[in-house]
Amino acid sequence: MDTEDRRGRRYTGSWAWQRRAACRGKDAALFFHPAGERGERGQEREDAAKRVCTRCPVRGQCLEYALAADERYGIWGGLTEDERRVLSARARRRGRPATAGPPRRN
Ligand code: SF4
Repeated sequence: MDTEDRRGRRYTGSWAWQRRAACRGKDAALFFHPAGERGERGQEREDAAKRVCTRCPVRGQCLEYALAADERYGIWGGLTEDERRVLSARARRRGRPATAGPPRRN
């Protein structure tokens, strides 16, 4: 199934992986920071969310989706928005799309 990101770009892919997500049924507030969150409290929330991601069987698909769709907010694939931005910037400098995995050999 296709979906459209906030910029109107199409993302082609199945959402079936979400059915196996470790965060399924968990409070979304764990993964998306509330307005004005700062400091230690935010770090604790992020750490707790990342612990869920660590044992998630679809972490790679989640991160691939977030990078392809340029998800701006929240923890996806075990990375914060800032961490994904760094990954995407590095990939842009190399002239490649950001991916969840190591560079592929051709
Ligand atoms: S990697 Fe984290 S955010 Fe993504 S589906 Fe798994 S638990 Fe949810």
